[in-house]
Amino acid sequence: MTASGGPSLSPPPLRDDCFALPAGVDWTPVDQAMERLRASLHAVTAQRLVPLDQADGRVLAEPVRALRSNPPMPNSAVDGYGFAHAATGDGAQDLPLMQGRAAAGAPFDGTVPTGHAIRILTGAILPDGVDTVVLEEDVATDGTRIAFRGPVRAGANTRKAGEDVAEGAPVFDAGRRLIAPDLALLAALGLAQVKVHDPLRVGVLSTGDELVPAGTPAGHGQIHDANRPMLLALLRRWGHEAVDMGHVGDDRAALSDRLDAARSKCDALLTSGGASAGDEDHVSALLGETGSLQNWRIAIKPGRPLALALWQGMPVFGLPGNPVAAFVCTLLFARPAFATLEGAGWHEPASFTVPAAFEKNKKPGRREYLRARLDDQGRAEVFASEGSGRISGLSWATGLVELDDGARHVQPGDPVRFLPYGSFGL
Ligand code: AMP
Ligand code: MG
Repeated sequence: MTASGGPSLSPPPLRDDCFALPAGVDWTPVDQAMERLRASLHAVTAQRLVPLDQADGRVLAEPVRALRSNPPMPNSAVDGYGFAHAATGDGAQDLPLMQGRAAAGAPFDGTVPTGHAIRILTGAILPDGVDTVVLEEDVATDGTRIAFRGPVRAGANTRKAGEDVAEGAPVFDAGRRLIAPDLALLAALGLAQVKVHDPLRVGVLSTGDELVPAGTPAGHGQIHDANRPMLLALLRRWGHEAVDMGHVGDDRAALSDRLDAARSKCDALLTSGGASAGDEDHVSALLGETGSLQNWRIAIKPGRPLALALWQGMPVFGLPGNPVAAFVCTLLFARPAFATLEGAGWHEPASFTVPAAFEKNKKPGRREYLRARLDDQGRAEVFASEGSGRISGLSWATGLVELDDGARHVQPGDPVRFLPYGSFGL
């Protein structure tokens, strides 16, 4: 009995592992979640022809073939002297030098008789009669003859027409996200414009009564909205059109209005916060009311739960509010999903197996991602705290260590999978 006379309230006992999976609840393994997501998405963006200078970072909407060979004509790879290989042999060679020269953009029009040589510069088309070039550094000349030491390999220092890419050859499949060297290749192959997908427009919306934007003084109990600048930057980095949808408090009507607003401006939406099943988790509650919510309880740490839904046809990714979880879920799920919506298809991040520089006892039942970086011996060290609010660990890290769903006792030196941030396009 208490002083007031009522029955005493005793606090619940602390649990060993407050993240333990509830008994009897079906947590979706990461691989299965990925597979379902992948299977349910397809390109939604419009296609248009753009000139090359607007094509960097865009996704090809159709396959590309070479309109022209690279190189278009056989040409010299060096500055030197060209001749017919057939007239040369072993030992000292001495050939009369023709008048004139062949230069890039200024071909030699005549024919070089067998047994004669001609001055030729890098990139010049091989004149008729020339199939081999000797480097100028290997030649002595008085302006009327050249001398060099044989043998010279047939075809030495020349480039064959189409040796890189032949006219008509397939160059890129649809779905390729173009990078700077691709523009060089397309230009060389005679393409001045390509058909690409429009960038996916992705909105970013933060939710929570506690949030104020960076730059606005934070009152008692308030924190700065950390997720929005991070998520907007990720989207831009991935080539999407990032749309800042601002912030709403924990208010279902305001949230509903903002989702409507996003629907008119965006192809997809990332929200953060309010995605669990608590009193103030209005994102999952509201999306649940629309009937299209898939509350994905993904067996992942950090990150669960992820709310996936369609809002009047617009895919909404309801991320957890914790910045670390929001970041990891965005890299793992939203990144390939948005790439697929933009026509680039689903791609796994490249990973490397490296020795661990840490010890960890991992429980079974969920996949874990640790903030990690490589030490000077190429071993993965992990951030001191796994707390999902420790934003500094994301900056400390240069990638993530992925520990598979099963139980595992990692000892220093054991192989672990490291996914550099670069594998996620950062
Ligand atoms: P929630 O998922 O809404 O329950 O939020 C989980 C935790 O993440 C809480 O501590 C929130 O204050 C925090 N949080 C939610 N959204 C943000 C945000 N945009 N920036 C920083 N922290 C956030
Ligand atoms: Mg919240």
